Amino acid sequence: MTAASLNVKPAYLKIANVWKAFGDFHALKDISLDISEGEFVCFLGPSGCGKTTLLRAIAGLDLQTRGSIQQGGRDVSTLPPSQRDYGIVFQSYALFPNLTIARNIAFGLENTKRPRAEIEARVTELLKLVGLPEQGNKYPAQLSGGQQQRIALARAIAISPGLLLLDEPLSALDAKVRTHLRHEIKELQRKLGVTTIMVTHDQEEALSMADRIVVMNHGVIEQIGTPTEIYRHPATLFVADFIGEANKFEARASNNAVGIGAASFHCEPHDYDDGTPVIAAIRPEDIIPHASGSLANGAAANTIDVTISEMEFLGSFWRTRLHGHALGNETLIADFSINAARRLSLVPGGELTVELPAERLLIYPRGA
Ligand code: ATP
Repeated sequence: MTAASLNVKPAYLKIANVWKAFGDFHALKDISLDISEGEFVCFLGPSGCGKTTLLRAIAGLDLQTRGSIQQGGRDVSTLPPSQRDYGIVFQSYALFPNLTIARNIAFGLENTKRPRAEIEARVTELLKLVGLPEQGNKYPAQLSGGQQQRIALARAIAISPGLLLLDEPLSALDAKVRTHLRHEIKELQRKLGVTTIMVTHDQEEALSMADRIVVMNHGVIEQIGTPTEIYRHPATLFVADFIGEANKFEARASNNAVGIGAASFHCEPHDYDDGTPVIAAIRPEDIIPHASGSLANGAAANTIDVTISEMEFLGSFWRTRLHGHALGNETLIADFSINAARRLSLVPGGELTVELPAERLLIYPRGA
């Protein structure tokens, strides 16, 4: 049966078993990944995990040591950048300082030998598209960082490439401009339907922009999934810890439960044998507060009694540090809404019962 008859979109970009070595060091270890046409994919991971190396291999700027890359059914594995079909935007805007904004955008188009009037019309259209219709005659230095990055984006999409590659395009900008441009890039990508890969180490950026996130660590893919899959069901402890925040406890598995300190909590069914040492994790915002002693049976309700050691006001919520006999010396960090804190009159030193919902407890092998 063909992909078409199954109504499955064939991969537009197919990365198969890609390795990259720098001397003895392997920056990419057997990376395989399919990206569909029109998808917005983020490569996310800590510094040095290999995301830029992978992007550069896709662009042909640094060839992979092993493995293949296909784009639109064409094997581009060993093609030079000029023979591949993509536009790229780097962190540093990389505009030509001595050319006007219009000439910067037209740069790639001029190589295509199109008629001058057509190029000018396209530049006007692109300037409008990135929200800078009046800036064509200025020079890069006369624009703000955010504006320069929009021009870099216009230049990258000028020749209507099949693939748009974005290498940390927002990280040189200040927080407000960054958030604003995030929306603009996403809008533009949707409008154009261009398959896009963005490298970022900013989890919020990836969560808010990507259709799918590829989480990388030490040259391997830890997880590929939609933002909600990655956040809600992190496949590994690394993902749980890197994206969002997680309390982590050394724990022991038992039948559909997990023991942390002296307490036992129900959790989703797992495959660990009774007594297996595991790590139990829970996100601070998944912990539910109840008035102290308001729930009769702690074990059945997945609750423990705690004392609030510290409360930190973080604008839209309270971050609390909690301690309880059942947890021994462990600290539990929990985030509570302003309303919950008010309703329960939470104060440092106050007592509280907290619930760790079974479906929110994440269980991972220890030492992985
Ligand atoms: P960052 O966010 O810091 O850019 P990254 O995830 O993009 O990190 P890469 O730039 O892909 O990471 O680098 C992956 C690993 O490969 C790093 O350990 C880096 O030091 C190494 N590396 C990258 N380029 C080279 C090179 N030209 N020579 C030797 N090692 C390199």
